[in-house]
Amino acid sequence: MNKAAASPLYRGRFAPSPTGSLHFGSLVAALASCLEARARGGEWRVRMEDVDAPRNVPGAAESILVCLEAHGFAWDGPVRWQSTRRDAYQAVLEQLLAAGLAYPCCCSRKEIAERAGHAALDGGLLYPGTCREGLPPGRTPRAWRLRVENPAGGALEFQDRLQGPQAQQLERDVGDFVLLRADGQFAYQLAVVVDDAEQGVTDVVRGADLLDSTPRQIFLQRCLGYAEPVYAHLPVATHASGEKLSKQTRAPALVAERAAQNLVAALDFLGQSPPAELAGARVGEVWAWAREYWDFARIPRCRGRVWKAGSGGPDPVAAG
Ligand code: GLU
Repeated sequence: MNKAAASPLYRGRFAPSPTGSLHFGSLVAALASCLEARARGGEWRVRMEDVDAPRNVPGAAESILVCLEAHGFAWDGPVRWQSTRRDAYQAVLEQLLAAGLAYPCCCSRKEIAERAGHAALDGGLLYPGTCREGLPPGRTPRAWRLRVENPAGGALEFQDRLQGPQAQQLERDVGDFVLLRADGQFAYQLAVVVDDAEQGVTDVVRGADLLDSTPRQIFLQRCLGYAEPVYAHLPVATHASGEKLSKQTRAPALVAERAAQNLVAALDFLGQSPPAELAGARVGEVWAWAREYWDFARIPRCRGRVWKAGSGGPDPVAAG
């Protein structure tokens, strides 16, 4: 590998949302994305996805970064903050509007509920297309949507490095999705696509809870003529009930004093079989072991695994 290459062939990233402290599930995504980037001789970036202002928890972003550092993570370049990127998202929205690929929508939730035929894949309402051909007279825009069309052949298909071949019927499963919300916030789907492209991200390694969002992101990349990153969706850590570990499900915040043990547990979750004695090692020693023995092929190819605090290894849970 030519280390002097100006632009790496591989650029990965970790993109937490500051809606709470770092927990075990986010550590798994950070660790896998970082180790894979380093194993491939690439760069690893951190992007703070604070685009959804009402969901940001004060102090959470700073606490996530401090916690990452305490766990021995070192990222390339400065942290990118999505809250500073509104102008870029606005410019892309205008580009899509000018190309006729996006349109303003005046519908309230109630109006959509009255007309929606069936639920979208994420459990929300499938947009019935009311404003697709123009706003009804006298109405003003509330949100902006992307005009979604199935690719020739029907489904949007992609190959996930861990979850295998994927296919989604965009029109039936997600419909015309929102780019700029009625509350003035840019949608995650737009922000993530614009930033992954502008930051030159070649490989996305993240939790399988985002697998169903990926076809929307690929569709948007195609609309904008962006390169398509390679995707790998990791099993997400779940409680025994099958619920994803998250702030909402009271996942405990990671304790920096237990950084080495946390890293060893994450390596175990990722199928890397760290030796038991590593749990008593220092953070730097755990990283040295992980850098030497990281093997992407050993990551379990399921959508979720039960995380049991302080016990043996995790158990696989049913996909879906
Ligand atoms: N910010 C998203 C989250 O924390 C992750 C986005 C991504 O990795 O694409 O769930």
